[in-house]
Amino acid sequence: MQLSQRARAVRPSATLKTGQQAAQLRAQGVDVINLSVGQPDYPTPTAIREAAVTAIRANQVNSYTATAGTLELRQAIVQRLRATQGVTVTTDQVVVTTGAKMALYALFQILLDPGDEVLLPAPYWVSYAEQVKLAGGRPIEVAPTASLKVTPEQLADAVTPATKAIVLNSPQNPSGLVYTAAELRAIGEWAVAHDLIIIADEIYGELVYAGPVPVSSMLTLGDSIAAHTILVNGVSKTYAMTGWRIGYAVGPVDVMTALKNVLSHMTGNAAAVSQAAAVAALTGDQTPVTEMKDGFKQRLDVVYPLLAAIPGFKLNAKPQGAFYLFPDVTEAMAMKGYTTTAEFVTALLNEAHIAVVTGEAFGLPGHIRMSYATDLETLKVAMQRLKKFMD
Ligand code: PMP
Ligand code: GLU
Repeated sequence: MQLSQRARAVRPSATLKTGQQAAQLRAQGVDVINLSVGQPDYPTPTAIREAAVTAIRANQVNSYTATAGTLELRQAIVQRLRATQGVTVTTDQVVVTTGAKMALYALFQILLDPGDEVLLPAPYWVSYAEQVKLAGGRPIEVAPTASLKVTPEQLADAVTPATKAIVLNSPQNPSGLVYTAAELRAIGEWAVAHDLIIIADEIYGELVYAGPVPVSSMLTLGDSIAAHTILVNGVSKTYAMTGWRIGYAVGPVDVMTALKNVLSHMTGNAAAVSQAAAVAALTGDQTPVTEMKDGFKQRLDVVYPLLAAIPGFKLNAKPQGAFYLFPDVTEAMAMKGYTTTAEFVTALLNEAHIAVVTGEAFGLPGHIRMSYATDLETLKVAMQRLKKFMD
């Protein structure tokens, strides 16, 4: 069967693919340490799981909900935005999706015409470029600075009359770096001056280990920036709920209406039981979030110096958020005789039994992404294996 051009052009998600490869090796009995896929290793907090069970028992989640999500969940999102960021939006500015991934996918579908360009400051999350292409748009990589944070000066070189939007992700996957409010404002003002849409992926916004928590949302940086911004967020990372698949977008009513229309032909609503669980997550006691966050911070504090001490691995500023490390491994590759990052990653998997993701997937070869969302003991063993591999 002849597949469409778009299906033939799409690359599978490197994060999910590497995670699956590691799982397969494990199933074959190989003791692989999986630092590839980015998801909290903690259980979903008990109260959230209980809320889901209660909703099932009460037969409250057997039907389709509104495509945009239940009013209760949209209200919970509105309230949480107000409580954490002081931002006021209405429930018709919120659309709930099957994970933040679907929010992003559907947003590109409604925003892009063929040839429209989307600026992606590298390093960027694996799915953005493929999602832009699937919508007929052109992903435009903006090469990174040494700090891995993009500046308006660099963006000025990348913008063309075809530029429609920019995706900003802070805290950033894969580097864990967090933009300051001043840095975000400078980029926001630049985007407003060029009349670009800002897609602000703030999925790691509450997983921050230094500075103000949560970090300032793009929606807080003034009326004109907010008017150009579509916020993307979700419960996957903050509440250890990756499998529940609840994300959301917040933006102008006309854009959200278009989003809803497209979603009504794609997924319909996100799973009703997951929406009930997400209400409990957003409105319930936030202590489990603090505990998980403390756990991530402790792991970062242990693993960062261990990794930095490994020959050939270079880390710039210590990450402040998310749960990733993104070392530059060009020296390590040269020391071991590898010319591509993919070969290096394969050797790490087969010889050191550590699964990580190649930097190519994030627009930055010569780097690897390691998730530290796993227990301390395992992380320490992983660092020992890495050290031995490099000896
Ligand atoms: N954005 C970023 C930067 C991510 O790392 C992820 C990973 N899950 C997502 C969006 C999508 O998250 P989800 O679909 O689980 O809500
Ligand atoms: N976002 C996570 C990651 O970057 C989960 C996998 C995915 O959805 O790509 O690893």
